[in-house]
Amino acid sequence: MKNQDILKKYLAHNDNVRVVICDVTNMVKEIRMIHNLSNTVTVALGRVIAITTIMSSLLDNKEDRLSIQISGNGPVGNIITCGNYNLEIKGYVSNPEIELKNVNGKYNVAELIGQGMLTVIKDIGLKEPYIGKCKLLTSQIAEDFAYYYLMSEQTPSIVSLGVNLDKFGNVLKASGYFIQPLPDCPSEIIDTLEKANKDIKSVTSMMMDLDNMLDVAKVITADNNVKEIYSKAPKLLCDCNDIRIKNAIISMGYKEAKNIIEENNGKIEIKCNFCNKVYSFNENDINSIFKNEGN
Ligand SMILES: [Zn+2]
Repeated sequence: MKNQDILKKYLAHNDNVRVVICDVTNMVKEIRMIHNLSNTVTVALGRVIAITTIMSSLLDNKEDRLSIQISGNGPVGNIITCGNYNLEIKGYVSNPEIELKNVNGKYNVAELIGQGMLTVIKDIGLKEPYIGKCKLLTSQIAEDFAYYYLMSEQTPSIVSLGVNLDKFGNVLKASGYFIQPLPDCPSEIIDTLEKANKDIKSVTSMMMDLDNMLDVAKVITADNNVKEIYSKAPKLLCDCNDIRIKNAIISMGYKEAKNIIEENNGKIEIKCNFCNKVYSFNENDINSIFKNEGN
């Protein structure tokens, strides 16, 4: 299917506020197929994919990348996503097929994830990656990231994330938006933003009603003069490759690799968690990998 996902950035209220809006419907459809996700996991991981895409678009440099880990005590286990400056996104969860009963007609994402921590790791070319951590507030994802921004950047950001499924569980819409007052933003503008967002029930229904993303930007900022400053198509893309997997085998060590070969009918199979691609190596492959290493 043609990828029609899109992410746009805007400035509002005379450049005092930045806004990011994304439609990641196709990515969520695709990741659901790759991992055979249950409905509830589709909603949970879909929300995380939306915020990962948004946060990736806020990276400053071509080489920058980030990773998000949501580790709760709920049945889904860990949720891991990665994104980079080019908006190439990947993700997986520990237990993709777990399904929970809906509560009041809503997917029970909070119980699926449980209580725990949210970790953001940013590799922005410094010696050490930047690591930000905070407790999960509601485990509904959007509130947790709003809290993360409040704690890590001391800004009252607004985060809204949504995944709509039809009654058969098909993904109708997956989207999100992020609003952040820039430094020295007057407090009246922050009040206006909060008022504008109080009555918005669901980002996905708004995205379905308003075909035009610019109209969405106007509604969520209560500013008719928002201006678009960036537009890019995000995509689901795994960057695993032969070299990376071979390096993983090298770091395992020759002895350990030989042991696995012996116990596993003459081959080592390594599956990429993100895209499920299986890399298979036989004894000759292993010998030549370590020969090239000079062992
Ligand atoms: Zn992969």
